[in-house]
Amino acid sequence: MSYKTWDEISLEQKVAARLLKNHISLHRLNHAYIFEGVKGTRKSEIAEFFTKAILCKHLDESLNPCHECDHCQRIDSGSHPNVFIVKPDGQMIKKEQIKSLIEEFSKTSLESGPRVNIIYEADKFNLSSANSLLKTMEEPGEDIYQIMITENVQALLPTIKSRGEVIHFKELDRGIIREKLQSIGIDASYANPISQYTSDISAAVEIANDELMIEIIDLVIDVYEAMSDPKKSVIITFLENGGKVIADQSRTEFFLDLMIIFQKDIIQSKLKNDHICFYSHHFLIESLSKKIDLNTAKDHLEKLLELSMRIKYNINKILAFNELLMVLERGYKNATQSRRNPI
Ligand SMILES: [Zn+2]
Repeated sequence: MSYKTWDEISLEQKVAARLLKNHISLHRLNHAYIFEGVKGTRKSEIAEFFTKAILCKHLDESLNPCHECDHCQRIDSGSHPNVFIVKPDGQMIKKEQIKSLIEEFSKTSLESGPRVNIIYEADKFNLSSANSLLKTMEEPGEDIYQIMITENVQALLPTIKSRGEVIHFKELDRGIIREKLQSIGIDASYANPISQYTSDISAAVEIANDELMIEIIDLVIDVYEAMSDPKKSVIITFLENGGKVIADQSRTEFFLDLMIIFQKDIIQSKLKNDHICFYSHHFLIESLSKKIDLNTAKDHLEKLLELSMRIKYNINKILAFNELLMVLERGYKNATQSRRNPI
């Protein structure tokens, strides 16, 4: 999923694309950039594209790299001698890593032309590794560029932060993620909730291609269908397939998050709001919303949120889900009774 053009980047990161492209077109590159933004904003893919735009000798009239020349291809395969990548060794970027970067760059075997260091998780510098890097930044060579990537710009050492231009990457629009999923053949009934669950485009594609995760989305629908069906038991419906959910922490959290999204849809429907996520199931959502009052729907949401906090700890999941689903089911199935007897 690497980028081919500035226009593609611009669809997701308009401001960043305009800034970086400008620097290329004016031949006014900074010696240090800090790419900052939450997970899933594709900072590393954009850093790679930018590196190509710096090194490629065959930019087209829109300043897109050619993706075919020797420079572009070696950047793609990670074998370009003038592009150096640093990732933290364990929890830290160590001084030795920066030393070897500097050594590497002083070798005569390097090709002429620009050199680019891409530093991942730049918030993981310690003082001594940062100082080593800063020495190189104080006397930047003609054509040496640092691209530092971080999810947490606040955690960057101030000395590093002050020397680089911060490029902010904004969280991806959910509509873009949904369209991306639909463009690879994912049905809207799954693309919608997945795009609501995560703003990380790679994670979204991974979930959409994971059969078990898709089954979990189906299970959320099954559970809510059982709530609206007097002949079905919600707990039995859950237990039939819930084993897959409970067996794994990330799936448990996914299931609960989707339950929360569905519950919010019920509340939206009660408020006569059209913006619901599980739109393909809007009949079910409407019918459920008619069976409970707003306070009960909000109370159910509270219960779901509360469990999604507790589930992070070591609790008995089966028991916790049984209790939760029992409360939710009672809300729908005793509704007729309670209406007759409001006390
Ligand atoms: Zn090229």
